[in-house]
Amino acid sequence: MAVVPLGGGVYRVETHEDHSYSVDLPGQRCTCPDHQYRGVQCKHLRRVAIEITQERVPPPGKEVADCAVCATESFVPELSDPPLCDDCRLEPGDIVRDREAGDRLVVTRVTPERADEYVVEAVGQTIADFETNEGYPTDDLVVEVVYLGAAARRDDPKEYAFPYFRLDHSEDAALID
Ligand SMILES: [Zn+2]
Ligand SMILES: [Zn+2]
Repeated sequence: MAVVPLGGGVYRVETHEDHSYSVDLPGQRCTCPDHQYRGVQCKHLRRVAIEITQERVPPPGKEVADCAVCATESFVPELSDPPLCDDCRLEPGDIVRDREAGDRLVVTRVTPERADEYVVEAVGQTIADFETNEGYPTDDLVVEVVYLGAAARRDDPKEYAFPYFRLDHSEDAALID
């Protein structure tokens, strides 16, 4: 049986006999006669659960996508833009360190835009145009941040944007010294 994820926790199961059934995993429903008329936990529901356990298809709420940073294929939250693998993912609230100035910053958003596309309106330049960003790839994703101190004061902190690789998000970066 082949299992094809359709999104929203629904999977299409194609059987050897050329039947195709729709399994709603969170709802524990299947369109096959066994389930419809006899109400049993049919083999299609079981099959979908096995494929998820073996990580051959994404669990409900996730989908297969290439990471926008490292291009590795993995299961990412559905409809995420940009899709990021577990290693590359930055979440709002994560603390990172600016590799250039050493400042600690709080991530507010990872944008789907690249450094040479993202224009800073105030100066009419792209992120890639900034001299301090010279050493970073022009197709780097752009990350919006606020300075840690400003975020702590909660006084409408100003947002800044940085190339992804300028931000150190290793565990050490989050340690406040
Ligand atoms: Zn079934
Ligand atoms: Zn990645």
